[in-house]
Amino acid sequence: MTALLEVKGLKTHFFTRAGVAKAVDGVDFTLNEGEVMGLVGESGSGKSVTSFSILGLIDPPGRVVEGEILFRGEELRTASEARLRALRGKDIAMIFQDPMMTLTPVLRIETQMVETILAHEKVSKKAARARAIDVLGRVGISAPETRIGAYPHQFSGGMRQRVAIAIALLHQPALILADEPTTALDVTIQGQIISEMQKLVAETGTAMIWVSHDLAVVETIADRVAVMYAGRIVESGPAGAVIGAPSHPYTEGLLNSIPSRTTPGRKLNQIPGMAPSVVSLPEGCAFAPRCRYAAEICRAAPPLAATGPGRWARCALPLREGVTA
Ligand code: ADP
Ligand code: MG
Repeated sequence: MTALLEVKGLKTHFFTRAGVAKAVDGVDFTLNEGEVMGLVGESGSGKSVTSFSILGLIDPPGRVVEGEILFRGEELRTASEARLRALRGKDIAMIFQDPMMTLTPVLRIETQMVETILAHEKVSKKAARARAIDVLGRVGISAPETRIGAYPHQFSGGMRQRVAIAIALLHQPALILADEPTTALDVTIQGQIISEMQKLVAETGTAMIWVSHDLAVVETIADRVAVMYAGRIVESGPAGAVIGAPSHPYTEGLLNSIPSRTTPGRKLNQIPGMAPSVVSLPEGCAFAPRCRYAAEICRAAPPLAATGPGRWARCALPLREGVTA
């Protein structure tokens, strides 16, 4: 497999009055062609900032201060705004939690989709419309030839997200960055959309980064997971292996707080305490103050421990297989 996206030593900081928020502070990962990576962590861990950094969408007071972002070997950090605009929506598409980040309320779906196609390709309006209808059908919108004439507000939240997904798929991107695309939807619709997306990316060979705060969601869609805490990836590896036997106590904590994975009637084990402010991180392991296994050694910066085939954890005391709550 060849690397589609390589992120090396990425640091994105926000220079605020309260201090420097190190939202992303040394993130490394490689995504291969056609691979789906789940990027997981509690709210505020730096998942969105990581995705936005890749697309060059960080606005002041934020800035990518260090690192490399290589898309098919091309450095995006230093790419011109024109080049980034050409890549965005065509080779790299983004799906947001709120579909109205993609959709314009005052335009018919048809207009928006046709314009998106024409912005990147020289095809006739008729051909563009036909493709838009085809893609709407593929994301589960029935009677797309009629409904393409509707405005976004005539659709439910789930349907609007399907339209946003259809727009992301219009140019058969090599990479989709999906930032909590189903978080705002009810569980049934969420499940439908996840399985449809899984099928679509598998069919088209599209690589995807699926951002979620919910490991259970990621388990169904991702080949690999990267777990983020306080601006860093603290555990990475094959999805099944990591979720089956986490190496990092934080990953274990996230798993123990998922309702469907806990014995009915048993109390949920929420991770105690709160995610730290990335303006003033503790020395050593950032998770230590909340970690049930923390020891003296955790006061020092945690090493990268190889914990199995293709997996590692940033932890001085990684859990071994069979160690559970
Ligand atoms: P999430 O993992 O929930 O997607 P984000 O990537 O959105 O988290 O944010 C990570 C952290 O980055 C936040 O907790 C905050 O400290 C900081 N941050 C993000 N956006 C801004 C901003 N516009 N100004 C200041 N700090 C920000
Ligand atoms: Mg986010």
